[in-house]
Amino acid sequence: MAVYPKGTLVFSSWSRPVRVVVVGCGPAGVYAADLLTKSERVKSGGLVVSIDVFDRYPAPFGLIRYGVAPDHPRIKGIIGALHKVLDRGDIRFFGNVDYGVDLSLADLRKHYDVVIFATGAVDDAALNIPGIGLRGSFGGADFVSWYDGHPDVSREWPLDAEQVAVLGNGNVALDVARVLSKHADDLLVTEIPENVYAGLKGSPVTDVHVFGRRGPAQIKFTPLELRELSHSRDVDIILYPEDFEFDEASDEAIRSNNQVKTMVNTLTNWLVEQPEESRASRRLHLHFLHNPVEVLGEGGVVTGIRFERTELDGTGNARGTGEFLEYPVQAVYRSIGYFGSALPEVEFDAGRGVVVNEGGRVLDAEGKPVPGLYATGWIKRGPVGLIGHTKGDALETVTCVLEDLEGLPVAEVPGEDAITGLLEARGVRYTTWEGWHALDTHEKNLGHHWNQQGRGTLEGRPVVRERIKVVPREDMIRASRGGAAV
Ligand code: NAP
Repeated sequence: MAVYPKGTLVFSSWSRPVRVVVVGCGPAGVYAADLLTKSERVKSGGLVVSIDVFDRYPAPFGLIRYGVAPDHPRIKGIIGALHKVLDRGDIRFFGNVDYGVDLSLADLRKHYDVVIFATGAVDDAALNIPGIGLRGSFGGADFVSWYDGHPDVSREWPLDAEQVAVLGNGNVALDVARVLSKHADDLLVTEIPENVYAGLKGSPVTDVHVFGRRGPAQIKFTPLELRELSHSRDVDIILYPEDFEFDEASDEAIRSNNQVKTMVNTLTNWLVEQPEESRASRRLHLHFLHNPVEVLGEGGVVTGIRFERTELDGTGNARGTGEFLEYPVQAVYRSIGYFGSALPEVEFDAGRGVVVNEGGRVLDAEGKPVPGLYATGWIKRGPVGLIGHTKGDALETVTCVLEDLEGLPVAEVPGEDAITGLLEARGVRYTTWEGWHALDTHEKNLGHHWNQQGRGTLEGRPVVRERIKVVPREDMIRASRGGAAV
């Protein structure tokens, strides 16, 4: 019997390891790779898997590195679990490799038996209202990318508005509103890059208004994230009694759903307890029953936003009342959901922003499963649910992979090193897991250096920074590939 590297086991009908590539090294991709190695059929010795995970960014962890807010260390902590998986050494990581640019589907098909797409959803859902293209109107996801130090987003962000509108009542809207309203010094303990701290420090913002189109019982926030709003120093939360409308569906939701009940209680307590006059230098307003209809502007620049007041229709949905309200704001952030990007050579559902699939099996234009092609995570089911939910999703996809393996043709594939040879021949400066360790150490050293210089104090105490993120792609690659320190 052939001898395979540690961590590989042989599947009965396969005379060699099954070569698997996962495209996307966020939680969805790592969970899928990990579950595959831990499946019963692998553990029982019937299956050998050899797994490579690619990512278009030089660093791994996808949405956790580039989507989770910097002041959410508990969620960022999931990186620890993913780190452990990739530290085991039985899954290879290649960063800075862009599917559709550096490698085509044909390349992947040639080198692997199974392709799993886990590319997530990074774009903002569109809001088609007049004025949405004005200067000062932004996608919340783009702003998240900026404050999370995404390598492909401009280093500069125009933070010149005193009054800001954030549209949407989901957790991304909360992140955006919280980061916009927080004092920059309170974010210094996080990993925010230098340019982000400098940008936020210069922000003249005084009022951030968050608008939901339905009522307080229809919010998509989660209780912990909502409560956290009240922890921001020198930021008052302002609510409006006329927005507290509950229909039958709201009452039912409050009765039957503990999360809704908790959040409605939180909001109601804030409403009742709010001071008559705000003494804080910044305010975060929560408005409900406001449907955005137009971003107002002058000379191509945002000057306000117009809403139609809504009312609940008994089912928890909102309908227009014919009453219109305008707010003077100089910036509008729409946080009304993410949207997946189409992947080259794969059928895409442009309405839902997902790869066309059934339970994770990618389908062709006729709706038939494409042998060996799978999807998992947000690109499979859309941008809903918390990171943990992605695990169940990965399990479903991996189960499909395992069910289908016996029927897959065992074609000739080049050896494991052929893919790196191909990347090198194409001049792709890919990064590796060892490279991530180097970048990780480098970012921690930047934090350490900052601490040694004693560059900041907050309320009389020195600020201790664990890490400072490296932003430019070139600098990330250089640090990962053993180049000069940045
Ligand atoms: P989301 O939870 O789906 O919320 C989207 C919000 O946008 C909803 O309030 C929705 O209102 C509103 N909306 C949609 N279309 C609109 C329109 N045309 N006009 C006005 N409002 C509109 O999406 P998300 O905030 O992007 O979050 C995505 C997922 O990531 C969620 O599962 C979220 O919990 C998770 N996440 C978690 C955290 C965390 O800290 N735990 C942080 C970020 C994201 P309707 O309800 O009326 O449709």
